Amino acid sequence: MDPVLIAGGGIGGLGAALALARAGCPVRLFERAPEFREVGAGIQLGPNAFAMLDRLGIRAGVEADAVQPDMFTMRCAIGGHEIARVPLAAMAVRYGNPYAVTHRADLHSTLLAACAAEPGIALQTNRAVVVFLEDAEGVTLRLEDGEAVRGTALIGADGLWSRTRQVVIGDGRPVVSGQIAYRAVVPMAELPPEMRERRLVLWAGPQLHLVHYPMRRGELMNLVAVFHSDHYVEGWDQAADPRPLWRHFERTRPELRELLARVETWRSWALCDREPVRGWSRGRVTLLGDAAHPMLQYLPQGAGMALEDAVCLADQLRRHGGEVARALAAYEELRVLRTGRVQTMARLYGEVFHAAGVRAELRDAWLAGRDAAGAREAMAWLYETPRWPGDA
Ligand code: FAD
Repeated sequence: MDPVLIAGGGIGGLGAALALARAGCPVRLFERAPEFREVGAGIQLGPNAFAMLDRLGIRAGVEADAVQPDMFTMRCAIGGHEIARVPLAAMAVRYGNPYAVTHRADLHSTLLAACAAEPGIALQTNRAVVVFLEDAEGVTLRLEDGEAVRGTALIGADGLWSRTRQVVIGDGRPVVSGQIAYRAVVPMAELPPEMRERRLVLWAGPQLHLVHYPMRRGELMNLVAVFHSDHYVEGWDQAADPRPLWRHFERTRPELRELLARVETWRSWALCDREPVRGWSRGRVTLLGDAAHPMLQYLPQGAGMALEDAVCLADQLRRHGGEVARALAAYEELRVLRTGRVQTMARLYGEVFHAAGVRAELRDAWLAGRDAAGAREAMAWLYETPRWPGDA
């Protein structure tokens, strides 16, 4: 059997390679960057994402480095009062899987090691996918160095700026949200004891928020500060000037600013997403992860959805045997409404977090009226393990 070809070695591409190899498909994965790596920042993984890590056989490896915070608390970035709290330990009891946070590099390297140990997976870096041609029997991929590679299918897991998407859907550039994320990591040992809580904390304010949580076995603190801005720097992972951040956060609580002041280096991201659309699968080619359904990070589920895509896609290829186009169409059909819902809800959550004035008061009153069980149940649509025909 010709291999399944994958463009992109992020969390989605590596997850797909592993899921496909476990389903008996040989895989060739091409990554454009000179090495496989993830950005130096944290990532939240809901119970649904852990269910997929379990299916991929790497749950224990990820859990070894991850932190399971005791509590999620939402606080007002201006007034300081607590708006909501959700005990996170109970998530594992309700959903059968934990809510945990980890370093992206730890998750990515666990995935990479599992892929490297699979004889059916060939991984290559420094190999950008440029174009592809599809025929009745397969797909021919052309790489930047001119080599042509033949496969039975192509999975475009090439991220927000996906080239594969431009051929398959052709809907132009992503939607620029007008929001900027500043990210930083601080060694926990450098923080005073009162800042070393095992909590996931979200400080919400008008047109801004800050999230912080411990990661890497509690050795590091991850910080993500987001604010609305007209200033748009194209790209990803820019070394950031802290002055705009300070301007936007100057009215926030002293304890919040004290935490920001501990950061030496920030990196910034212009946050983008897309409208949910159909049409990711065309014949023997499909899209996965951010290439298919880029979303704002307010839920935060981009990587979780990419892992679900990976497992679902492998299940459909196994279920439909050699009928590749049918399997890819079934995969899209099973994923499009769920991922579209997350894309849509992520935008809405951003508005809730960044509310001002009467809207913020309404939010606070609404959240104060919910008990912990109510808050947990409100997320059942997302955190329960998704099921589809052909899952194991
Ligand atoms: P990517 O990670 O973008 O990987 C794409 C890969 O393809 C890259 O390695 C790239 O180099 C490669 N590539 C690109 N073009 C080519 C080509 N032509 N040929 C070959 N290779 C190519 N998600 C969560 O689940 N939890 C969170 O807490 C969370 N927090 C977030 C916070 C922020 C501030 C942001 C911006 C996002 C967050 N996300 C979170 C979303 C999550 O990071 C993404 O959804 C996820 O990483 C997407 O993975 P991917 O593999 O689809 O794409």
